[in-house]
Amino acid sequence: MVFAHDTEMSMQAAVALVNTASAPDTLVSVAQADAFWTSWEYTGRHERTRAELDAVRELRPVLRNLLTSDRDRAAVLVNELLADASALPQLVRHDEWDWHLHAVSPDRPWPQRITVETAMAMIDVVRSDEMSRLGVCADDDCDGLVLDLSRNRSRRFCSTACTNRAAVAAYRARQADTP
Ligand SMILES: [Zn+2]
Ligand SMILES: [Zn+2]
Repeated sequence: MVFAHDTEMSMQAAVALVNTASAPDTLVSVAQADAFWTSWEYTGRHERTRAELDAVRELRPVLRNLLTSDRDRAAVLVNELLADASALPQLVRHDEWDWHLHAVSPDRPWPQRITVETAMAMIDVVRSDEMSRLGVCADDDCDGLVLDLSRNRSRRFCSTACTNRAAVAAYRARQADTP
């Protein structure tokens, strides 16, 4: 593990959220937001409303900006986001989760908690100088973000679809080279 468990979960969820904005947008309905909620095992307040969905959608460019910034800029953004949310880090243990950090209470709106969780996770990324774990998909036609938590830093593509497309292209190139 590169970072603490809650940091890795928050970073993975943030990248997945940003990547829903890549065409075709896969976060356009309340049902899709609900599925995202379930798949990333969020807890706490969840309104299942259009307004909540819109707020989560509006978060995507904000998080993309944070996750693709250079380290110094990311530090400034993290501080701003945490100050705006009046974040107060507390160790908590709830449901099946062992001690981890929350910096705002579970009754704050879900989009705000995503922002704060991402900012808290980015504290670890910035101070351990691991911004290089974040990048953009190696597929030229894809703007998806990549979070590489592998030991040998081998991850280049944002999704299985992009990995497979690259493998097929490489295979065709080899075939074309064969006389
Ligand atoms: Zn929690
Ligand atoms: Zn991709």
